[in-house]
Amino acid sequence: MGALWHPFSDMGAVTQNGEFVVARGEGVYVWDTEGRRYLDATAGLWFANVGHGRQELADVAAKQMRDIAAYYTFGDVATPATVELAERLSSIAPMKDTKVFFTSGGSDSIDTALKLARRYWHEQGKPGKNIVIGRERAYHGTHVGGTALAGIPGNREGYGSLMPDAATVTWDSADALRAEISRIGADKIAAFFCEPVIGAGGVYPPPDGYLAEVRKVCRDNDILFVADEVITGYGRIGGAWFASTRFDLDPDMITTAKGLTSGYLPMGAVLIAGHIAEPFFKPGVWWRHGYTYSGHATSAAVALANLDIVEREDLLSSAARLESTLDKEVSTLAVHPAVAEVRSGFGAVAAVQMADAADVFPMIRLLRKHGVSGRAVGAGGLQISPALTMTDSEVSEMVAGFDEALRELQ
Ligand code: PLP
Repeated sequence: MGALWHPFSDMGAVTQNGEFVVARGEGVYVWDTEGRRYLDATAGLWFANVGHGRQELADVAAKQMRDIAAYYTFGDVATPATVELAERLSSIAPMKDTKVFFTSGGSDSIDTALKLARRYWHEQGKPGKNIVIGRERAYHGTHVGGTALAGIPGNREGYGSLMPDAATVTWDSADALRAEISRIGADKIAAFFCEPVIGAGGVYPPPDGYLAEVRKVCRDNDILFVADEVITGYGRIGGAWFASTRFDLDPDMITTAKGLTSGYLPMGAVLIAGHIAEPFFKPGVWWRHGYTYSGHATSAAVALANLDIVEREDLLSSAARLESTLDKEVSTLAVHPAVAEVRSGFGAVAAVQMADAADVFPMIRLLRKHGVSGRAVGAGGLQISPALTMTDSEVSEMVAGFDEALRELQ
């Protein structure tokens, strides 16, 4: 076995069973090092919204690298691509006068928003508002703040106390949020973090009316509402750039990454409503936060070209179409006795929940045997989050692969 330590992995099992090494990708397909082709059911880790192997993005990256691969954006420094991307994101964000803070990925975006929410209240003369509330099943990346905030207990185990100022409520009840706010006291709470569709925790679309209600609870209690759109942002939710747009959430901040570049280069961005940024834009106020690669020039150039593709190919409409196709097609898998439930119907995401969680890894091997690259999600689920370019016949091919794998599992 080699030196690579895989993230989120049972390395003993990987050492025993070997690695799945992907060498090439084109559209919704990837190829392993043996030249075998797989339909990519997950678009990597929910990121390849425009599909794999876009020559255009490689060309943009190469040109930017020849001009200048990267500079930095601390102080008054910037690159043209960084400035242009910030303007572009501000123009598609659903909030007023949006400012854009660049990061290197989703976990950075979460901890940036978390620190900014708390610091905002300090600037407002309310330094007691430090507690952040997340939801059960939520995933907010793996930095210390995001790990503490998220609602997946296994991810928090074995580190001692990560961040005592984090609280968790059930994922589906606005009443639970209200009760937690009255227990803690709104004067101690900085922000509520909310994935519009719970992703890595198992793909749980929100109950009807839930998002509008928790948004209102936060507004009524002077608590910032942060939409974690690392998965749902940039079109995956269908019909709009952000789930926050589609559901009229008017969040105080949106955390993003993944679909910003479709994963062609690492990059994240926090979109910050003008009224939250305003105290930080006064002369003499410094926010001592940022990353070497905040606004990385090549990532920014690729992000711009990626957003161009989403617009040119109208992938926001494609995602809306995929929402109903997936809902219709993937739900047919529920007839298999090994399947407990299928969750879908909200954006280009779905999950096949196995009745026995022990079946997930055998299923992933069987899916590969039947030409589909899949992965585990939540507790005992299989993830479906294809490129937004996936055609109806490719959806049928993917579902047929699941069907064959499920038959063979029995
Ligand atoms: N937030 C959500 C909702 C995510 O799904 C993820 C990653 O899957 C993250 C944050 C963390 O992003 P990254 O893995 O880029 O650090």
